[in-house]
Amino acid sequence: MKKFALFSALFLLFGLCGCAKKPVENVDEYPSGPTEEEPAPPAEDGPELVDPEPSEGPAPPAHMHAAAGDRLFDAEKHWYVCADCGEKFSVSDHTMEGGMCTLCGYRVAEAFETAPAAEGCTVVGLGTVTSPDLLLPEEVDGKPVVGIAERAFAGESITSVTLPASLQTIGERAFAGCSGLDVVRFLSAPTVGADAFSGCKVSRVECEGLSVWQKICFAAPTSNPLFSGGRLFFGETEAEALSLSGEVLPYAFYGCISPKRAEMVRGTLGAECFADCTFLSDVTLGTDVTVGENAFEGTAALEEGGAEVYFGEHLIRYRGAAKRYEVRAGTKSIAGGAFEGNTLLERVTLPEGLLFLSERAFTGCLALQSISLPSSLLEIGAEAFSGCAALEAVSFPASLVRIGERAFSGSGLKSASFSLAEGWTSAAGTVVLSDPLAAAERLKAADAAAIWLEAGRKLPETDRNAL
Ligand SMILES: [Zn+2]
Ligand SMILES: [Zn+2]
Repeated sequence: MKKFALFSALFLLFGLCGCAKKPVENVDEYPSGPTEEEPAPPAEDGPELVDPEPSEGPAPPAHMHAAAGDRLFDAEKHWYVCADCGEKFSVSDHTMEGGMCTLCGYRVAEAFETAPAAEGCTVVGLGTVTSPDLLLPEEVDGKPVVGIAERAFAGESITSVTLPASLQTIGERAFAGCSGLDVVRFLSAPTVGADAFSGCKVSRVECEGLSVWQKICFAAPTSNPLFSGGRLFFGETEAEALSLSGEVLPYAFYGCISPKRAEMVRGTLGAECFADCTFLSDVTLGTDVTVGENAFEGTAALEEGGAEVYFGEHLIRYRGAAKRYEVRAGTKSIAGGAFEGNTLLERVTLPEGLLFLSERAFTGCLALQSISLPSSLLEIGAEAFSGCAALEAVSFPASLVRIGERAFSGSGLKSASFSLAEGWTSAAGTVVLSDPLAAAERLKAADAAAIWLEAGRKLPETDRNAL
């Protein structure tokens, strides 16, 4: 009775003025509960009586609550439960700092920020994720993660990233400026936008194997996390000796210091696919290989080769100062960019048996006046003679199957004669090339599309994608 009277007096004193300070109590009566003298941890927010607002809420308790145990919480609040009456008390909001409540330890569930996308969702930012080692999920709310948006992680303090197996695209500049990013793991073969890894210095890139890596489509050198001298691992094995086939896409190994040897029996090597692979010294190419523009620029194999470099039956580069040059007998292809920008050459002789002139092979050879195309030639690559202002006449052999887009754009072409004028086709339909003057005009147009010979002609294997 005496105790009740004391409580009532204190309630009037504190409760009516809206000040919810707890009354002084005999701590011995409530040994397990937090009190003002002995607050429950953490100390800075001791439990209090339920606010005894007279107009609403539960009626004030007839005793001092005593916590039954540790502070409890959900996503919104934290509280104690009274050991005596079972009521919640001292209910209040979390005090969040860096994703965690400083009082009860509640953590916001880490989740990347996503946006809906066709066939799934796209990660657009870190969301509530605080770890520098990103492990991107394959699914968010049951939707597959198919993309990483432009600039999604640009400039973030990230150490490593594991990309999901469901990933199809990485947007432009997605990881640009992540200067601490050291390790990147690919579990799929996405298309990677321009500058996705620019400003990064990734030292280790992991991928399941060459067959996956070969399918990753890099838009530019800085789309490839290897570009600044990274090492590439297939599983735990560094990719030092590569046995390639099929299509190696542009920039596939750009800047990577792992490859030392590469061999390919048949297939296509995309533009700059091995550019700046400074330790690549041993390259073996079979006959049925086409070599894209500057595929080996900056490799030991090329830089140690001097003015003219052949890999097997392929002329990779000519940087001599002669006015006339005769390509070695037995050569099967001229690599992309092989003569590019040589302003001294006037006359080039190509050997019988040559099959391919790859893209930009003679681009910008301003003095080139004469080129005789052998009767074995199957294909002339895109922009092969673009900008050859002195080149006025060309005669195409009956063997020719395809002429790439803008192959003669900006050239001096006045006459182009076709041994087989019938049956040439472009995306727009049949092309009649029986008039050498009209054919020349068509070929040197700035937007000249690729054309190819129809009518049952067997196309080179490497060319089928182009159709
Ligand atoms: Zn109670
Ligand atoms: Zn809390």
